[in-house]
Amino acid sequence: MAYAIFIDTTLCTGCRGCQVACKQWHDLPAEETRNTGTYQNPADLSFSTYKLVRMSEEVIDGRLRWLFFPEQCRHCVEAPCQEVAGDESAIYKDDATGAILYTANTKELAADDIIESCPYNVPRQAKDGTLAKCDLCNDRIHNGEEPACVKTCPTGAMNFGTRKEMVRLANVRLKATKKKFPNAMLADPGDVNVIYMVGFAPDRYHPNVLGTLDPGGITRQMALKRMLRPLVRAARAVSV
Ligand code: SF4
Ligand code: SF4
Repeated sequence: MAYAIFIDTTLCTGCRGCQVACKQWHDLPAEETRNTGTYQNPADLSFSTYKLVRMSEEVIDGRLRWLFFPEQCRHCVEAPCQEVAGDESAIYKDDATGAILYTANTKELAADDIIESCPYNVPRQAKDGTLAKCDLCNDRIHNGEEPACVKTCPTGAMNFGTRKEMVRLANVRLKATKKKFPNAMLADPGDVNVIYMVGFAPDRYHPNVLGTLDPGGITRQMALKRMLRPLVRAARAVSV
């Protein structure tokens, strides 16, 4: 069964409870940060920050708005990073939950290809070459718990359930939200298992709110990999 998270950014207050809960559950260290001119902290995702509440201040229709975007891996339905890796020992999908998971074997992959393949610019690399990102709290889900970020959210912005339930909830909330925010939209709901609703134009929040998948649903790296696959198979057959 595929599970999903629905994040209604119009209810997010930027409290960063989800960001801290993620660090706590995964036992990830804090980072030395610097002021980059916003309240966002730290400045970006990293090998030890899987969840980051992005913050931007925008003047929209003459009114100052604080826009919050609690960013994380989208656990793509057809994950480009998994396809480009082509190594189930390094990047694989847990079919029981739909989570896309990275192992220590990501150290052996061509990291630049994996990072470039992600339509949402999510994976980050450690000094030793290992890649990391959100794991959907897969261990918690297998034990009947919701992800730590969802559990801690005090406003109802973060929601967890089966993909069917979350798609339904997202559409119900979208319909209601459009009365107040006419430009509200869901970000790539057919492609991802972490579905965001934004109240304003996506580029007001962050460049990677919408993915870079082409209309055929594939990235340039995926197309290249698919093209080369028969050649790789033939080369392997010759070498055995
Ligand atoms: Fe992989 Fe990026 Fe999709 Fe996450 S968002 S599953 S890292 S391609
Ligand atoms: Fe927003 Fe909820 Fe995260 Fe707080 S815990 S920053 S309200 S998504």
